[in-house]
Amino acid sequence: YYRRSWSSESSDSVISSESGNNCYRVVLIGEHGVGKSSLANIFAGVHDSIDSDCEVLGEDTYERTLMVDGESATIILLDMWDNKREGEWIRDHCMQVGEAYLIVYSITDRASFEKASELRIQLRRARQKEDIPIILVGNKSDLVRCREVSVAEGRACAVVFDCKFIETSAAVQHNVKELFEGIVRQVRLRRDSKEK
Ligand code: GDP
Ligand code: MG
Repeated sequence: YYRRSWSSESSDSVISSESGNNCYRVVLIGEHGVGKSSLANIFAGVHDSIDSDCEVLGEDTYERTLMVDGESATIILLDMWDNKREGEWIRDHCMQVGEAYLIVYSITDRASFEKASELRIQLRRARQKEDIPIILVGNKSDLVRCREVSVAEGRACAVVFDCKFIETSAAVQHNVKELFEGIVRQVRLRRDSKEK
């Protein structure tokens, strides 16, 4: 284990100084109202729970560097899925540009959960040959009395769709840091297996 982490760190420092390879474009998708922008705002440090500064690159693009497992990673987070002003092309754009995806639904809204499945299928179709890291995110876990989708259902869906699963609450900031650390780990797992 020591040897593996040592060698991956040393090779990574070479890569990151040469090509900025530890920078990941992560895209938030999911039905309107499920909490994508709330999660993005926490990431951006609007409520300031994660300790590093964030650069706002545009109206709905945020950049932040996190330490994950002793290695820094920069996430460029795109929250433009609901940006209707720009027209429908923005959704095609979102489907193409992500290196990783957070598919968000609300645990209080079954329709948003079903929409998440649809989005997973669309994404698979749009990026057929790629093994894209995805986390299925059941947000609003604080609203226990309004729950319409059980944890077991969320987890089972993630198994079917071959992705990770987490429940979060943007309102009480539960599991949000873990979510962003999780997506970094998913990207790294694929990167490391490619390097072998
Ligand atoms: P978006 O349309 O996906 O970007 O969703 P928003 O982030 O705009 O959130 C929609 C509404 O849900 C807002 O009123 C938020 O305050 C609320 N909301 C978002 N996340 C949570 C959460 O985790 N718990 C609760 N109780 N409300 C939330
Ligand atoms: Mg939004």
